Amino acid sequence: MTANLLDFDLEGLAAFCEQLGEKRFRAVQLFRWIHQKGASRFDEMTDLAKSLREKLPSVCHITDLPVLSRQDSVDGTIKWLFDVGDGNAVETVFIPEDDRGTLCISSQAGCAVGCRFCSTGHQGFSRNLTTGEILAQLWHAEHFLRKHLKSSDRVITNVVMMGMGEPLQNYSALVPALRVMLDDHGYGLSRRRVTVSTSGVVPMIDRLAQDVPVALAVSLHAPNDALRDSLVPLNRKYPIAELLDACLRYLPAAPRDFITFEYCMLEGVNDQPEHAQQLLSLVKTHGGRGVPCKINLIPFNPFPDSGLKCSPRPVVLRFGQILNEGGVVTTVRKTRGDDIDAACGQLAGDVLDRTDAVRRLADRRLTAAEQPIRFVHKAKDKQV
Ligand code: SAH
Ligand code: SF4
Repeated sequence: MTANLLDFDLEGLAAFCEQLGEKRFRAVQLFRWIHQKGASRFDEMTDLAKSLREKLPSVCHITDLPVLSRQDSVDGTIKWLFDVGDGNAVETVFIPEDDRGTLCISSQAGCAVGCRFCSTGHQGFSRNLTTGEILAQLWHAEHFLRKHLKSSDRVITNVVMMGMGEPLQNYSALVPALRVMLDDHGYGLSRRRVTVSTSGVVPMIDRLAQDVPVALAVSLHAPNDALRDSLVPLNRKYPIAELLDACLRYLPAAPRDFITFEYCMLEGVNDQPEHAQQLLSLVKTHGGRGVPCKINLIPFNPFPDSGLKCSPRPVVLRFGQILNEGGVVTTVRKTRGDDIDAACGQLAGDVLDRTDAVRRLADRRLTAAEQPIRFVHKAKDKQV
């Protein structure tokens, strides 16, 4: 098997080139062709020496993930389903807004954390994605969008690791992928425009602070350990106090001066005014001075057999109001791409028999001509 160049950050590619007897600037050229221009063939790379262009195909390749389907929402959201083999599929979602284009990327096929409200969690864990598979989602989406929008500029301005999987349980593949996103010769995204979302893998939060301190979102979902234990099983290993300590340690390295806490609103489970009060006092007093944060309330996206319901809108607004009035900036996530089930892990309802689901989705594959892209810009998350 030859190397897939999507697996390398710039240092990795430089080391690979060195083995071929090529200088570092050749690695930079190659890297720019791949990530900035979307090249997948070496004969396109006109400024590389002809001898190198001829040698490369025998030692490496640039291989994208096969697309099983692409769905375009009326609101401009686009969801891809990529085949990662053995009957597994992962999803990637593009969310256009007035002033940005956000790509939501998957890090694993399935997830081992097994949160009660998450359909990816209900699927169980299949495997970690490779760096190349994480980056292929960005590479594919960026260059697809540029072509279809006839844009020479960058279309994706923000990346959130909020698709399928727990990114901090796939750390060794995640870090080089993040480096390529940030690299000026790669996608050139600033650290504040790349967000890693985690259910709370405490030791890896500390490592991220040292290795690639991008923006951090923490999926909290409950204001006390008893409730969080029942929603996010990882809480039994890393309880809330340890998680918030890790957030405080992360802040000095973080590109923003706050942590985002995600809180999925589940009817009758974690959505009562007393939960909001408890959450408020937790984030305002933890460690003595509290944790500088913003809270994002996520309306629960129901899926079959979850046994859970989304809190009614007035309950969500009341919850947010308590937090805002208590001095913690709180927003309610706008749901996007409802008509294509573009929310996190929504695919999994389909994927109980994964092999069969992938086959069915492949049958449903639509051509670009059948699926015109529409861009309807919508407002950002609303503060309540
Ligand atoms: N594993 C990471 C990142 C992927 S999940 C994490 O848990 O943070 C991204 C976000 O989607 C998390 O905040 C998660 O709690 C939320 N989420 C998962 N399932 C959901 C559902 N059915 N409805 C609403 N949000 C959900
Ligand atoms: Fe995994 Fe995140 Fe889903 Fe929990 S919410 S099961 S950590 S993907």
